[in-house]
Amino acid sequence: MKTIILAVDREHPDESAIRQAGEILKNGGLVAFPTETVYGLGGDGLNAKSSEKIYAAKGRPSDNPLIIHIADLESLDRIVSHIPEKARMMAGEFWPGPLTMILKKSDAVPYETTGGLDSVAVRMPSHPVALSLIRLGGGYIAAPSANTSGRPSPTKAAHVEEDLTGRVDMILDGGEVGIGLESTIVDFTEEIPVILRPGYISQEMAEAVIGPVRMDRGLLITDEKVKPKAPGMKYRHYAPKAGLTIVEGSTEQVIKTINERSRILQAQGKQVGVIGTDETVGAYEAQVIKSIGTRQDEETIARHLFGLLREFDEEQVDHIFSESFDTPRMGQAIMNRLLKAAGHHLIHV
Ligand code: AMP
Ligand code: MG
Repeated sequence: MKTIILAVDREHPDESAIRQAGEILKNGGLVAFPTETVYGLGGDGLNAKSSEKIYAAKGRPSDNPLIIHIADLESLDRIVSHIPEKARMMAGEFWPGPLTMILKKSDAVPYETTGGLDSVAVRMPSHPVALSLIRLGGGYIAAPSANTSGRPSPTKAAHVEEDLTGRVDMILDGGEVGIGLESTIVDFTEEIPVILRPGYISQEMAEAVIGPVRMDRGLLITDEKVKPKAPGMKYRHYAPKAGLTIVEGSTEQVIKTINERSRILQAQGKQVGVIGTDETVGAYEAQVIKSIGTRQDEETIARHLFGLLREFDEEQVDHIFSESFDTPRMGQAIMNRLLKAAGHHLIHV
């Protein structure tokens, strides 16, 4: 398959380019497109065949459901059987934006899109290119992140090209995304809403709108027997080719430990990489040292994480050490991804 790559302006997307992409979607094809969280791999969410194509293009297990993207609140009625009051309040506060809600599905949504579940994940993104594409592409775009299954989610079109060239009909290049981590997923099929995946919208932000919200136990416990409720959260994810160890503790102790361990590996002829911050990169002794951003601005840390993990795949390193980024607001979301990338290998010093 030949993949057409089109550059589109974020604020003023060229209508004819989006129209062309919309036609591909309406005809059952696949289009990768930018959202404010990460790039999505889109197909018509109400067309079972399109959803099957999405799983095939990503190499994604078909029990891992897709998120349906809509452009206005009226579109919600057709794909869900019931909208709880709390879900309405959350939509009012955070849509369009990085919030995905799990609701009971209607018959209009094929089981191929929901991985066989009776619930459906829905989000209204805020990115102008995404909104315009949804409107011109039939109104319901099923879109997981536009990466090969298991790789870090794409935060620029170049990442999508790496993974999906030849596997999708079109890639819309709208530049680098704003947030860089996937949406917060909240399940409204239970009495007390549950966060199935942490994201830019934190538990506190959600609770300020609808009262008590729980975190899925499967997210908090590393016990293999407690499965996360979002099927996708159980898969190994984001893992760089080299092994990754997170080191947590005071800045001084973390630097000391990473340098000691780097020296041991280097003495064995190994190449070592380090993920630090603008504040600390000068203090490391590894062969490849990269800054994820500054601790003064946690949003830059979130935005750079996936791109940095991909960059390390290009480097000839045998092992990577990373600082821990348990920052005030987005820390839960950042550490959820970083811990997965590290296969939960964390040392506390
Ligand atoms: P991605 O599209 O790559 O951001 O992944 C979508 C995430 O949403 C995966 O972790 C899915 O398991 C989760 N998800 C989608 N639909 C549902 C659903 N109906 N119930 C629970 N989790 C869902
Ligand atoms: Mg994904």
